[in-house]
Amino acid sequence: MFVKETPLHTPKTKLWHIVILLAVCTVVAVPCGADDAASGIVDSQTFLRRNLTPAGPPASIYAVAVEKLLGQMTLKEKIGQMTQLEIGMVTDGQGQSIRINPDKLHKAVGEYGIGSILNVNDEALPVSKWQEIIRAIQEEAKRSRLHVPVLYGIDTIHGANYVAGSTLFPEPLAMAATWNPELMLRGSEIAAAETRKAGIPWSFSPVLDAGRQPLWSRVWETFGEDTYLATVMGVATVRGYEGSDLSSSNNVSASLKHYVGYSYPTTGGDRSPALIPEITLREYFLPTFAAAVKAGAHTVMVNSSEVNGTPGHANSYLLKNVLHDELGLQGFAVSDWMDIKGLVSTHHIAANEKEATRIAVLAGIDMSMVPSDYSFSDLLLELAQEGKVPASRIDEAVRRILTVKYQLGLFDDPLRGIDSKTVIGSPESRQVSLEAARESITLLKNENRALPLAKTAHVLVTGPDADSLIPLNNGWSYTWQGDRASVYPKDHATILKAIQEKIGAASVSYVPGTTYNKEVDIAKAVESASKADAVVICLGEWAYAETPGNIPDLTLPDAQLFLALKIVETKKPVILVLTEGRPRIISRIADSAKAIVMAYNPSNEGGQAIADILFGDVNPSGKLPITYPRSTNRLFTYDHKMFSGEDWGEGKAMAAPQFEFGSGLSYTSFSYSDLHVAPSTASGNQTIRVDVTVKNTGSRAGKEVVQLYLNERVASVTPPLKRLKRFAKVLLQPGESHQLSFELTSEDLSFIGANNKPIVEPGTFDVRIGGLQQTFEWK
Ligand code: BGC
Repeated sequence: MFVKETPLHTPKTKLWHIVILLAVCTVVAVPCGADDAASGIVDSQTFLRRNLTPAGPPASIYAVAVEKLLGQMTLKEKIGQMTQLEIGMVTDGQGQSIRINPDKLHKAVGEYGIGSILNVNDEALPVSKWQEIIRAIQEEAKRSRLHVPVLYGIDTIHGANYVAGSTLFPEPLAMAATWNPELMLRGSEIAAAETRKAGIPWSFSPVLDAGRQPLWSRVWETFGEDTYLATVMGVATVRGYEGSDLSSSNNVSASLKHYVGYSYPTTGGDRSPALIPEITLREYFLPTFAAAVKAGAHTVMVNSSEVNGTPGHANSYLLKNVLHDELGLQGFAVSDWMDIKGLVSTHHIAANEKEATRIAVLAGIDMSMVPSDYSFSDLLLELAQEGKVPASRIDEAVRRILTVKYQLGLFDDPLRGIDSKTVIGSPESRQVSLEAARESITLLKNENRALPLAKTAHVLVTGPDADSLIPLNNGWSYTWQGDRASVYPKDHATILKAIQEKIGAASVSYVPGTTYNKEVDIAKAVESASKADAVVICLGEWAYAETPGNIPDLTLPDAQLFLALKIVETKKPVILVLTEGRPRIISRIADSAKAIVMAYNPSNEGGQAIADILFGDVNPSGKLPITYPRSTNRLFTYDHKMFSGEDWGEGKAMAAPQFEFGSGLSYTSFSYSDLHVAPSTASGNQTIRVDVTVKNTGSRAGKEVVQLYLNERVASVTPPLKRLKRFAKVLLQPGESHQLSFELTSEDLSFIGANNKPIVEPGTFDVRIGGLQQTFEWK
């Protein structure tokens, strides 16, 4: 056992439990919003209030122990803590034959005192293999002079990545489409427990970059374009990962990434420069991080790229003044992959790696994901000995890292989690993933009720994404690119298999038609279509992550569009199912499809979820978390600023998307009434109460996402058309109605002013919900 004896341990542990319990009870007792115990409806604001309480144990209870340990460390040992290496630095062999190399491990942990290791050689390992590797690493740490445990991390983007058989959930963009933070929280709890079961206490997630550039290859890792929706989902993820007790065997530390502005590259290419004025950064890109820090997230990963000419890894203003001083991050900042070297090779702000190391550490990088050599440790040691990096800066970084290790309980038990009762990929966990997939899938078009299809129909299934788990999952799925079929569990249905299971194989024909970008047998697909009652065309993307996913054109590849156009000529009803990580342009085929289903990357249970929706066993309730553009050069977010002529003629067409943010159809219908906003005039600390009634006016049960948008008519900084401020997902039986109440405070009326500070200006505000509108005055 790595017991760092501190007299504070036991009694204070109990004390912080009580303090947190009291805090949670107090927050829960606050009467607010549409929290309605009887109906089970929790609105976004109530959810946020409940989940902003940071996980214990608080850093303060380890302060004495951390200082004592710091006092015993040599400079080299301290710098070791700031160093993160990839697993190849301590292992031999590739894939399943990966094994610890004791000499390499001793060099890394015994000699260099490495603080952290990450990832695996792009392979999904059985949990027992992971446990064996982590055990060996922690045993080496135990033999080291000061027995400091190693902090292991992986990219748990939508489940325990690199862990064979783990439960994978819909990718984050799809999770955002559920508009259901409770599901996000539950999924994150499972992902955390499965990660920690493998002996890994740290996840490089959630991605809190606002997905406002649809071309970007990491849009699907985000919670979409809206800052508020992404904030709610981000907080849900942090709470799910970190729980109320970070040291428990089911929790992992979150790492908020990629701080900040990474998601808005001017060219759309991953890891390419962004120009984001501070006013915009603070309005749209920073709030997700601010809320997640408030929720207690313990670590942050830094933007690989540059904003306004300053690389993320050299931006002391953003890393120190904003992240720590303003947002209040207590934990530490880790670099992204090889990014200190990138200050030389990519950004050209340093002539050599030593200078880059000095710049990055002084800017506020606490840990370097080096990851494949000892350059960082060696160079920082030289810099410190030469007095070019002060000892105080190194102590500050190491103090933060050690504190997180204490908070994770690693000093008590570095293998915590390995003995937990968690079952990897249990049926219960898969059920949660299935629920999430069902709630995410978004019905974008349903002309003449083409859907649901009759189970007696004879259906042609075609398209490149019909019969593979790869596009259902996308990147970070057992491997980095998620494109290796052999690593996926064998007992999950593709879209084709799920449809066959649903209506019987005899009623289903299958012709691939095309690959992602090449024609295969379109003529055969057309022939088969002519004999079918309906055609389900499964189009979209294959798997990708990061720069390999860069594309020059958002339009769906020609081969796929051609397949759809040829099938349309048969005049058979065309149902488009899109499995894609970003909204690929489909304007050439959208009008002639009878129905369009956006499935995003719904993961392993997605095939079943899609079939459930196509044949009406599940009523769709997903809503777009991103604007679906109509043309490649008209990339507007829903909350864009008004421009001249926008409300008529070509101007109107210019901003009109294919499908709007927040839209999504159901097999039932909903009506809204009785929108009341009170008081009609308010100021200062007053709250504005908004009531609205939503009714299921159709003939089957369904879930509706009630969305509250706000805009100020006149402001000193050009106001956006509207901003999402609240939402709540409501289940309604046929004929049932429900009154929801939301509360708005002055914070909701604020925006970033010309001086880059939040400001609330008096004026007239429009509140819009479900086609209704009311106003109030703010004095
Ligand atoms: C990605 C990060 C990821 C890291 C470790 C980088 O290339 O940008 O998001 O956490 O690799 O896998």
